Amino acid sequence: MREDLVRSRVYCCFKCRNIVALHDDILKKTYRDGHGRAFLFSHAMNIFEGPKADQQLNSGVHMVSNAYCSDCGQLLGRKYHKAYEERHMHKVGKIVLTKYKIAKAVDPPTYL
Ligand SMILES: [Zn+2]
Repeated sequence: MREDLVRSRVYCCFKCRNIVALHDDILKKTYRDGHGRAFLFSHAMNIFEGPKADQQLNSGVHMVSNAYCSDCGQLLGRKYHKAYEERHMHKVGKIVLTKYKIAKAVDPPTYL
C-alpha cells in the first residue's frame, strides 16, 4: 500500500473547499503580506488572476495581480509577475496565499 503516493496534503479555499495549492509547493511559510501571515507557493491551481498592476508593497514596488478562487471568487492572495530589485527576483512567477484564507486538508485517497 503506497499511501504516500495517493495521499497528499493540500490547501483549499476556506470558503468553498476548492483545492488551490499543494503542501509540497510551499517555498516559505513565514511570509507576510498586507493581510497578515501568508505562505509563498511555487504555484497554485484553481485560481484566476485579476489585472496586473504595479503595487507598492512592504518590500517595494512589484508588478502583481490578485489571485481569486476559481469557484467562489474569494480573494486568496496575489501572484508576482515582476520585481524591480534583484533581491526580490526569486518571487517572480510565484504566488502568495494569505494564511487565514486557506485551510489545510487531506486529499481523499484515490485508488488508481
Ligand atoms: Zn472558494
